[in-house]
Amino acid sequence: MDTQNEKVRCLIIGSGPAGYTAAIYASRANLSPVLYEGIQPGGQLTTTTEVENFPGYPDGITGPELMEDLKKQAARFGTDIRRGIVTAADLSKAPYKITVEGEKVVEAETLIICTGATAKYLGLPDEAKYAGMGVSACATCDGFFYRKKNVAVVGGGDTACEEALYLASLAKQVYLIVRKPYLRASKVMQERVFKTPNITVLFEHNTVGLFGENGVEGAHLVKRKGEADEEKVDIAIDGFFLAIGHKPNSDIFKPWLETDEVGYIQTIEGTPRTKVAGVFAAGDVADPRYRQAVTAAGSGCKAAIEAERYLSEKGI
Ligand code: NDP
Repeated sequence: MDTQNEKVRCLIIGSGPAGYTAAIYASRANLSPVLYEGIQPGGQLTTTTEVENFPGYPDGITGPELMEDLKKQAARFGTDIRRGIVTAADLSKAPYKITVEGEKVVEAETLIICTGATAKYLGLPDEAKYAGMGVSACATCDGFFYRKKNVAVVGGGDTACEEALYLASLAKQVYLIVRKPYLRASKVMQERVFKTPNITVLFEHNTVGLFGENGVEGAHLVKRKGEADEEKVDIAIDGFFLAIGHKPNSDIFKPWLETDEVGYIQTIEGTPRTKVAGVFAAGDVADPRYRQAVTAAGSGCKAAIEAERYLSEKGI
């Protein structure tokens, strides 16, 4: 265990497009940044297949390849990239104290928070029981295992529709389990879903449990839960996919920073500045609106420029 606190000029937490872009800019500005990769090295894009909307890749690129390229680019300019999960933060005064894996403390003159967001689950005990045995929050990662099988996707937003459409190209039958009588997704996504013959939309259905001997074999649903005509429905499925939104990974910073009702870190309009001087937030952890790889990268760039200006103003 380290007994001596390490001091750094710029600490970046997170290794998605925001974190690595901040690292590229900070290292090229001689801030000698240290970056902790966090729980999911490479971030959410490592769980996608093809990325077609990141500028500069006319033929598309896979998520893992894109993240590997960004990592290499950050390393090329000297970013100290480390495995490790940040478990606590003390932002009461600069230098800010960041605890890694409950042990090591790093003191940072500037902090760039790029901790991203994590997929939400319904909170059913069966989701944990069948984790890795039929329950997934990423169709593009795990869809392959369900070729010619029956699956269900929970959610009524764009993500749920996208996942259902992706799975429909592999699976035999896809159920889209929607708690409301309508989809929240954009019209174009709704139309695609309705036009796909092997997607069945189950409106006004809630999942109450899963069943199966050695993995998921089906789901217990309730139609019009709480209404007079409430009805229990079981569906036979091999895979159960969650697509009900994301939770920003901001919990450890909440005592010090302002967050909205969902947990997104609030920054000063148009900038990655938080209310704590020298602490910046970039990427999905601070972006309830766009949540794109390219916007995350852009905000990571802004955060590193802000960190550089803050340090030079302070003469650090
Ligand atoms: P959203 O918040 O838009 O949708 C979440 C969906 O999950 C809603 O239908 C919601 O139901 C449902 N839901 C939430 N909690 C539960 C629960 N406990 N039980 C059952 N259902 C639940 O999240 P998305 O991830 O779909 O999208 C996030 C953002 O990203 C959106 O702005 C979206 O437009 C965008 N996006 C765009 C894409 C594209 O353009 N290609 C692709 C993917 C995302 P309810 O409606 O009842 O609240």
